[in-house]
Amino acid sequence: MEALPNTADAGMTRPRLIDDPRDLLRHFLGQGYRILAPQERDGVIDPAPLTEPEALPRGRVDDQGPGHYRLRDGDPDRWFDYVVGPSGWKAWLYPARRKLWSAERTDDRLTFRDATTAWPKTVLFGVRPCELAAIARQRRIFAEGPYVDTAFAERLERSIIVVVQCARSAPTCFCASMDTGPRAVAGYDLALTELPADHGAAFLVESASQAGDDVLHTLGGATARPRDHAAALDLSRAAAARQTRTMPDDIAGGLKLRLESPVWADIASRCLTCGNCTLACPTCFCSDVEEVSDLSGDHAERWQLWDSCFNSDFSFIHGGPVRSSPAARYRQWMTHKLSYWHDQFGSSGCVGCGRCITWCPVGIDLVAEADRLMAEGTD
Ligand code: SF4
Ligand code: SF4
Repeated sequence: MEALPNTADAGMTRPRLIDDPRDLLRHFLGQGYRILAPQERDGVIDPAPLTEPEALPRGRVDDQGPGHYRLRDGDPDRWFDYVVGPSGWKAWLYPARRKLWSAERTDDRLTFRDATTAWPKTVLFGVRPCELAAIARQRRIFAEGPYVDTAFAERLERSIIVVVQCARSAPTCFCASMDTGPRAVAGYDLALTELPADHGAAFLVESASQAGDDVLHTLGGATARPRDHAAALDLSRAAAARQTRTMPDDIAGGLKLRLESPVWADIASRCLTCGNCTLACPTCFCSDVEEVSDLSGDHAERWQLWDSCFNSDFSFIHGGPVRSSPAARYRQWMTHKLSYWHDQFGSSGCVGCGRCITWCPVGIDLVAEADRLMAEGTD
């Protein structure tokens, strides 16, 4: 798994065992950090500001499937048996709406003001391995390309990332076949593994950065033993083995040979072109900018908004949209994500989180459609 550059220095501190993840939250709150952590709101579990460690959704489990998401009670003693919610970390690091600047006209003068808001030092608590991979991919685009989004780069620079390794996979997860999970091996500051109930210790805590080491030093707790690591690896292997969806190995090259497949039209007969899949996807990064002014014409603002390749305006040039049919738009989404992203950015644009499957209102399943396309002959 790729590493985020700001956490490239491997942690030197031996992993520890802790009994209660709230101790870690209390430590960060005591240090004046804002904490964003998974919480239950409006029937989903997604990251939100956390001020009370009790707000972690302990004992809750998410049932996910194509076009389906429900929360239910699980083992009341387990802290992290849910996986990913609809919005995830993208909504924080790269908000759906952001004011870029405003301008005032007074007499003959125009005064421009940068509208970038400060990002307090923040802990991203409970990042899943596939989400960590998605953050790294967005970082490559926003912070390491020729045009740097300084707001995104600063948010990440001022954040500590605490991963929660996955001990459970939802039926929609396929990170194992994308090499992005269910265990993160680098790119975080701290990583928690929730050990089995009969293990004798609740959490293994590993560090992969100086910031993580500093926390481990002050946290206390027993030093982890080889059997704790072995138990953590067993959990990850079991979570991977339970994944029933597998992205075809040769999908990147295979899609390029099937651009005229009849499967595109069949998918389009079900697709609503609503763009939900692109909004939920943690790597999708397309945006538009919009200017608005008040009725007097003395105040104007420029906003950045998420865009989607499913919008007909997205490919509009003089005379009309380049991709006018739903089939062309779905093909654009899937071939960019799974194939052309490799040519552009050196990796897949998919991290196997399964969000596009869960949050598609008609249950279109990216992996099932990829399988179907690959089963078809080439053009
Ligand atoms: S394409 Fe779907 S499964 Fe892949 S990263 Fe995006 S939302 Fe997750
Ligand atoms: S694949 Fe599903 S979520 Fe995506 S645009 Fe079509 S209907 Fe909407």
